[in-house]
Amino acid sequence: MKAAMARLNDLSRARFTFLPTPLVELRRLSAMLKGPRLLMKRDDLTGLGLGGNKTRKLEFLLGEALKQGCDSVITGGAIQSNHCRQTAAAAAAVGLECHLALGGEEPENRNGNLLLDRLFGAIVHWCGDDRKGEQIPRIAAELRSRGKTPYVVPYGGSNVVGAMGFVAAIGEVKAQLDERKIAIDHLIVASSSGGTHAGMAVGLDIFGLAVQITGIGIDKGQWGGVAYESQLADLANQVAERLGISVAYTADMFRVRRDYLGRGYGVMGDLEHEAITLFAEQEAILLDPVYTGRTMGGFIDMVRNEEFSPDDTVLLWHTGGVPAIFSYAKEFNAGDQE
Ligand SMILES: *Cc1c(COP(=O)(O)O)cnc(C)c1O
Repeated sequence: MKAAMARLNDLSRARFTFLPTPLVELRRLSAMLKGPRLLMKRDDLTGLGLGGNKTRKLEFLLGEALKQGCDSVITGGAIQSNHCRQTAAAAAAVGLECHLALGGEEPENRNGNLLLDRLFGAIVHWCGDDRKGEQIPRIAAELRSRGKTPYVVPYGGSNVVGAMGFVAAIGEVKAQLDERKIAIDHLIVASSSGGTHAGMAVGLDIFGLAVQITGIGIDKGQWGGVAYESQLADLANQVAERLGISVAYTADMFRVRRDYLGRGYGVMGDLEHEAITLFAEQEAILLDPVYTGRTMGGFIDMVRNEEFSPDDTVLLWHTGGVPAIFSYAKEFNAGDQE
């Protein structure tokens, strides 16, 4: 797998992330849950524009944009998209104009990630019901017709280039684990547009870590009638091919839990509320209502269902998203009055 690591190192990469992100032990939470040994990889601390997992993908994506001589970047997502906020920040860091195709309508007050999009100077295109970047091609064409050369970052940054960030991330955590002589049995991570999960799967093979990854589904994950696990396998195969490794990924190699979808994408329920409160009170770690709250809530439920043995070591991957918390202030305040 040395050849694959060399190929990874040869890819164009912009540098705006503070790496390695911390790997911390969650002793109080583990004791409280009477659960397995817990470690957390703090990608909420990637450092660019309040952090998050998309920053790792964007190092490779914008690395390619700069190499291609693009003058602008376009991506899309939901109104409180962490991916769009990190793209806006990354574009500002390297001096590209940033266009965002956001779901919804312009609100009266900008808050959370949307406020940050403005501070980073992004140009927002309001797209109504299209919250998954459906209008990116239309806006890109419009920019080209005005003489621009936009670089298109897909929804969630989840293509073969973006996923490279998480191949590299596994190399990073492997070095941290080796240094501290810790072996992990499970890796738990939010899984939504798939670049994180698929990149990690390939990374585990390249860096030789035998770990079960469980992706916690965040939304229905069913695009164009193709099962999400097949999408993950397809993306992993593209990554493997580009890095020259001969592993063939199939849908059954990806474990995605869909039992924690609650009332749908972005709706905070008791599961997320409890997880956010527990992590804050026990470990002073902030989770977000959409991704990490749901993921850690699912994990807590798995512990309570005795899905882990007490001598397992579980790595929880914090993927960021914390700025969105401020747009959920009402829900948290309502909780106090019950
Ligand atoms: C985008 C995002 C994820 C999911 O990562 P994917 O690569 O899209 O599956 C998880 N957590 C947060 C906070 C995110 O913003």
